[in-house]
Formats: sequence, C-alpha cells, structure tokens
Amino acid sequence: MIFEQIATGGCQSYLLGCEASRAAILIDPEQSQIDRYVGLASQLGVHIRYVLDTHTHADHFSASRELGRLLHAPVVMNRLSPAPYAGMRLDDGDMLIVGELRLRALHTPGHTRDSMCILAADRVFTGDTLLIGGTGRTDLPTGDPAALHDSLFGKLLKLPPETLVYPAHDYKGRSHSTIGAEIAENPRLQTTDRDEFVAMMQHLDLAAPTHLTEALRTNMNGGRTVAQLLAEAAARVPFIALEELNARIGTLAGDMIVLDVREKEAFEAGHIPGAVHLPRGQLELRVNAMLCDPTARLVTCCEFGKISTLAAATLRELGFLRAVALDGGVKAWAEAGYPVERQA
Ligand code: FE
Repeated sequence: MIFEQIATGGCQSYLLGCEASRAAILIDPEQSQIDRYVGLASQLGVHIRYVLDTHTHADHFSASRELGRLLHAPVVMNRLSPAPYAGMRLDDGDMLIVGELRLRALHTPGHTRDSMCILAADRVFTGDTLLIGGTGRTDLPTGDPAALHDSLFGKLLKLPPETLVYPAHDYKGRSHSTIGAEIAENPRLQTTDRDEFVAMMQHLDLAAPTHLTEALRTNMNGGRTVAQLLAEAAARVPFIALEELNARIGTLAGDMIVLDVREKEAFEAGHIPGAVHLPRGQLELRVNAMLCDPTARLVTCCEFGKISTLAAATLRELGFLRAVALDGGVKAWAEAGYPVERQA
C-alpha cells in the first residue's frame, strides 16, 4: 500500500494508493494544500480516483469539491451528507475498490450525523469519531453524544485491538495510535456507561471553532470561502509593486489612474497622491460615470491589498482590461515612506 500522511496545522489528510495499479484515494483534504496533494500524487506516480471526506467539517475548509473537479474524481461522503457536491454517497458497510485496495465504510454518527470511519487493511481512518486521546466534540450542528457512544462502543472499538488508528486531527504532532491503546488510555473511553459518557460530552464546554460559520457554509452548502474568492481574483489580475507605482506617478510614464476603493473616511485620512476615490461598494454602478476611457491603465488600491484585488478583477470583467491591483495596500505604502496626500 502506498501511504502518505499530510499534516496541516492540526488537520491530517491521507493519500492511499495501490502499488500495482497506481490508483489512489485522498481522505480529508484541506483547502490550503491542494497544490501539495496534486504534486504529491504525481511525484508518487499515482492517479487519485476518489476524494473522500469522513464527515462535514466545521473547523476547516474541505478541498474535496475543488479537487474532485480538478481531478475528475467523485467526492465520496456518507449518505447523510448535506454537501451538494458529493458525487458518491456511502451507506454503512459499503466498500470502495481502489486498484487492489478495499476500503470499507463504517457509519459512525455522533460527532456529526454524517460521520464515517474508513477501514483499509490494517488501519482505520477515524475522522473525528476517535482521536488520539480524545473523541470528536458533539456540541456542533448534528452532533449527538449518545450516538457517538454507540458508534464507539458498539462498532469502532470492536475492531481488532492492533488496528492502526489514523484520525482527522492531532494537535500534538502524533501520527497514529491503535484501537487497543485508545481503549486502554483514552480518557474519554474509560467509562462505557452511556449516560455517563453523554454527561461527560455535554460538560466539555469547548470554544466554537474559529471559522465555524464559514466552514459550515462552504462544506455543507458548497459556497465559496473568502480565501477562495481572493485567490481566484488574484489569479486573474496582474499586480504592480509599491516602488514601481511610486516611480511612475507624476511622470510621463505614469499614464495611470490610481483608484482608491476604500471608504470615504479612510481615503480622506490619507491616500496616494492623485488617487481617485471610488468605494468598492459603488464600483460597478459609478465606474462608467467616473472613467471615460476603457483602455486607461488603472491601479486599484485599498488598505491591505485584498479588496483592491477583488476590485481589479471586477474591473477586468467589466472590460477595463488594463486594471491591475497594488501589491500591498495604502498602509504598506505609507509605512514604506512614500508620499501620502490628505484631504484639505
Ligand atoms: Fe470534524
């Protein structure tokens, strides 16, 4: 078996491949690592046939939808997954065939309704159902401590004790454990009593994950993340460096119009000399009245260089094909010591 564990922060993704056929499956990929997975697959000489999420993640952004599209591979999730982009849905006991590998799905609701563990030869990918020295939380949408108890004690922990456990998270840099070691040492598994387990899970009092709403919005409903929108815009526009713009404004080479897309107060507090003020919120509606030449060379700027990237992408869509974004914002411009003009 070809096996790679890819850790990103506390998230763990897995690439499993068949030596003979070079077919592979990617489990729980994370949004920021897309190029890394694709690069790793080609380095290993494997073809990713399936992209699988063990459950709807609430704490990070799944890369499944984008990778599925990129690789023409179905996104595999549990039957109960709400994700509209899941192209193959598994029931308890269903098996995926990847070359000579056999992967069996165990439906293990509790952390979420759609949680499943994936059993492959000597190992099980437990998602957030079972972690090393812990379990997934049950206080987020569709979580259910009683269901988690039944999934653990009635199903997962009945696997042979030597089965290797690979979870979707580990924040302490550990790579894996075994079913036997978890039964012996995991503090959450020391009581098998259902009511006690439920009471313990209900009193964990955990903070909400940082990107809860955005992660659920994108992982459950197939929406875009802000980082994705920015990355897509950045891939479609050229940029101009601070020093390049500074060298050009006020010179013959500077046939550029600097568009400051921040709000009025920020613009008045200090802007790049000669900049025209056109807030991002009014861009589409007012740009035609403010600029008469669609061939003009436009430079968008904002406070940090993000909104201006979106603005330049919008301008290009509108037909201003020479729109570029400032690499960095007015904040970086001022900090670099370049001239700032204030409203009189
Ligand atoms: Fe999770």
